[in-house]
Amino acid sequence: MSRPKPYVVKEIFGPTLQGEGAHAGRACVFLRFAACNLACTWCDTDFRADGAEHLDADDIVARLREVDRHHSGVVVVTGGEPTLQWDEPLARALFAAGFRVHMESNGTRPLQALVDWLTISPKPQFHDGRFHLHPTLPASEVKVIVDDTVDEAALVAYEARYRCEHWFVQPCQDDRYPHHLARAIDLATRRPRWRLSLQLHKVIGVP
Ligand code: SF4
Repeated sequence: MSRPKPYVVKEIFGPTLQGEGAHAGRACVFLRFAACNLACTWCDTDFRADGAEHLDADDIVARLREVDRHHSGVVVVTGGEPTLQWDEPLARALFAAGFRVHMESNGTRPLQALVDWLTISPKPQFHDGRFHLHPTLPASEVKVIVDDTVDEAALVAYEARYRCEHWFVQPCQDDRYPHHLARAIDLATRRPRWRLSLQLHKVIGVP
């Protein structure tokens, strides 16, 4: 009998609150995969394989149940880039355990299995000519991190590309944060479809 597939998992934690986008403030637990196909210069996430664990789907479900002690029933699947590892067996295991799956992706890869909520956070400035935004992803929300490359024309292009109800601009949290925040506020003011998203988890000091 073949052994179950191992997934490279950077961390599983909770209970906590989602900090960004339309579900900001919602109780949840997190499953963070190791590895990403992009290398954004301002990335604030440690997704290196160092210190990651190799867990199969049953292990992941057991660990998520353990940390979801208040029964939020929501798991945020992130990375790194979660679509590098997300697949049908893991999706089936999480759904069978009663979890709703919210995923955050950079939008460059196809989804190998369904999720309940898909956040696309495009970073084409870091595609380096090797990646492209996937043409048919079923976005639930689009969340654009505002740095100097993001302008009103970029938002218009995303509006044409994706069909969804929730649109967010979120200031890049690097050492020029006040500058990015001012630009994000300006963009949200000019294009009212877009709302300002702040990293609530950093404001309230949860992981
Ligand atoms: S896509 Fe996300 S996780 Fe990957 S390097 Fe960029 S910001 Fe970091």
